[in-house]
Amino acid sequence: MYNLPEISEVIEPQIVEQIIDQIDNSGKIVITTHISPDGDAIGSSLAMYHFIKNRGKNVMIIVPNSFPYFLKWMAGANDIEIFEYNPSAGHQILMNADLIFSLDYNILKRAGSMCTSIEESKATKIMIDHHPSPGEDFDIIVSKPQISSTSELIFRFFYQAGRYNEITKAEAESIYCGMMTDTGGFTYNSADPEIYEIISLLIRKDIDKDAIYSNVFNNYSEERFRLLGFTLSQRMEVYHDKHSALLYLSNEDQSQFRFSKGDTEGFVNHPLSIKGIIFSTFIREEEGMVKLSFRSQKSFRCNEFASEFFNGGGHVNASGGEFQGSLEEALKIYSKGLEKYKERLIAAVKED
Ligand code: 5GP
Ligand code: MN
Repeated sequence: MYNLPEISEVIEPQIVEQIIDQIDNSGKIVITTHISPDGDAIGSSLAMYHFIKNRGKNVMIIVPNSFPYFLKWMAGANDIEIFEYNPSAGHQILMNADLIFSLDYNILKRAGSMCTSIEESKATKIMIDHHPSPGEDFDIIVSKPQISSTSELIFRFFYQAGRYNEITKAEAESIYCGMMTDTGGFTYNSADPEIYEIISLLIRKDIDKDAIYSNVFNNYSEERFRLLGFTLSQRMEVYHDKHSALLYLSNEDQSQFRFSKGDTEGFVNHPLSIKGIIFSTFIREEEGMVKLSFRSQKSFRCNEFASEFFNGGGHVNASGGEFQGSLEEALKIYSKGLEKYKERLIAAVKED
């Protein structure tokens, strides 16, 4: 028999108990996550879904809008309801819920169009998340910004609850997927040695980690690959004096390559491979608005940039924002912002 390693109790033990009690004593349970769900959002939601379902409880997942095709291989992904497709049915489900989980988001606003329904619902609300600055509209809050993914937090919750032996392969796959995607395949924000203890425990559940990597990162369409080439060669600006790079795509660019949801996932990371570049921005036009993604290295806090200029936020080295206006206006604001942050960028490069 394999001796289970000791893993720090990151979640307060009484909170673990309270969450288990809530699950066992609630009739209808609904799991929600943030707008434009990513691998961690879907992975953590599905892991929790399987756990609750296996306890014989009534549970469903509702996400604000659709999620990318390369996450659909996960067991249970077809059971996920998309709020945007039928808002009145979604509203009713949230109003009738006894318990609502908010996974991988820190404030209700991040649930997009579902926000008001969650707010109005009388259900008990539990947030489990790893973004800084949690909101207060929840009854139980597990907010651990030092943990690299919400999926890892879900694993820790299961482990602390003493149910490692009961974790199923489907749960382990979803958790691994979330941990992998939120750390770029364990290439950033993943220096905590316990991450690798956890991976080892997941592999013992017979998951095929290489197949999971391939399902997510080697499963793109040809158009997506060509769009990446186009973006890097035609829509990239590099500002060496500011250690920054910018990628941008108009609506027209995207339709030329038959853009489909998730196609630009990960684009923003590429410019960080240029020597000396520590801040990368990707600006993408959407219907009537503009979506921004930021990535940084070292101590440069891209979430401050996101919040100061683009109504956004997120992690120190990975953040995002939105802008209600044209691509041209967003590009102008970005340029001004970059000028203002120039000294901070230079200082961050000089460190260590
Ligand atoms: P991505 O660039 O992958 O869409 O998002 C990176 C990170 O930034 C995620 O952790 C996400 O939670 C956060 N983020 C993305 N968009 C927004 C936004 O519009 N507002 C806030 N507050 N955070 C965002
Ligand atoms: Mn996450």
